[in-house]
Amino acid sequence: MLILVTGGTGYIGSHTCVELLNNNHDVIIVDNLVNSQAGVVERIATITGKKPLFYQADATDDSVMDLIFSTHKPDGVIHFAGLKAVGESVEIPLMYYRNNLLSTMVLLDNCLKHGVSHFVFSSSATVYGDNQVPFLETMELRPRTNPYGETKAMCERILTDVAQVNPELSVTLLRYFNPVGAHKSGLIGEAPQGIPNNLMPYITQVAKGSLQELKVFGNDYPTPDGTGVRDYIHVVDLAEGHVAAVEQAAPGVHVYNLGTGKGTSVLELITAFEEANNLKIPYRITERRAGDIAECYADVSKAREELGWTAKRGVFEMCRDAWRFEQIYAAEV
Ligand code: NAD
Ligand code: UDP
Repeated sequence: MLILVTGGTGYIGSHTCVELLNNNHDVIIVDNLVNSQAGVVERIATITGKKPLFYQADATDDSVMDLIFSTHKPDGVIHFAGLKAVGESVEIPLMYYRNNLLSTMVLLDNCLKHGVSHFVFSSSATVYGDNQVPFLETMELRPRTNPYGETKAMCERILTDVAQVNPELSVTLLRYFNPVGAHKSGLIGEAPQGIPNNLMPYITQVAKGSLQELKVFGNDYPTPDGTGVRDYIHVVDLAEGHVAAVEQAAPGVHVYNLGTGKGTSVLELITAFEEANNLKIPYRITERRAGDIAECYADVSKAREELGWTAKRGVFEMCRDAWRFEQIYAAEV
């Protein structure tokens, strides 16, 4: 298949391009480089031996998207392009609503116009909010009260409504848990700008010495060790989940959790990182972070049964690969 990948030079998109190419699909990347670099295209080519087509373009630009769809006639779209920083979405909500909603609508419109029947959307476990764990696809959505989470729930709604009146359309909503790690080559991975908000990139910055210590946000949650529990998933497992989703797309709306089904606490992740990489991570317990929930992990049975997909890589591998990427990347920039 020929897959149009928006956000394909980003963290999850780049790993998915690699897995698509490794599985003999062709790839066109559309990315405006607001949070990634064009050099990633070359790195994807180095890993796979195949160079994807790349357009530096904005997925909200209808005329450019129309041209790309009519020129290439893709079989499917995977829509990763989006802004994703929760805190920033509270500061500049309009930019988040505009970018995340408009890109989805423009792409969907072009799918209908050009007869493209497969649409895979990057959603998030954030749509479950404070439901009871493990999170099941059938649960009522309770996006946390931030514009980022709202955009994910709204896009799911838009895609579902449009699929209902276009029965030929296949919409797959993939709800990611906490993607971490990097490709084993160390050539692609997560390289956030500035001080990271998320746990794993913060840990790698501390390991590198760029940040002095990790602040553990609260140890009084109702969890086994009191720190927050998340379902960390290796980004390559996540990428493989996308290949399974595009290959098995069928008309209708399909929702899948992509996680491991296993919760890991902040302290457990620190210990795993220290053991996997043989180093120490200084940390200090601080106040809870506003808006955090105690636990977030997936029920993964639906993806296993319907897509035949399960995450294979454990926390040790996630920590080792995250650190390898940080060292190789840091040596270059
Ligand atoms: P990322 O920022 O690394 O990648 C997103 C890419 O989209 C970037 O390369 C950016 O330049 C591009 N982009 C943004 N707006 C665009 C636009 N209008 N037109 C073209 N390109 C645009 O983020 P990621 O971690 O790879 O996330 C990919 C998707 O998965 C996002 O939609 C994100 O919300 C979702 N998601 C991520 C996580 C996570 O923890 N990383 C969790 C759940 C869901
Ligand atoms: N966390 C932390 N210190 C940090 C960043 C995160 O203790 O510097 C905790 C956070 O409170 C949560 C877990 O690590 O319990 C995962 O946070 P992250 O931001 O990576 O993911 P999310 O909360 O969005 O699932």
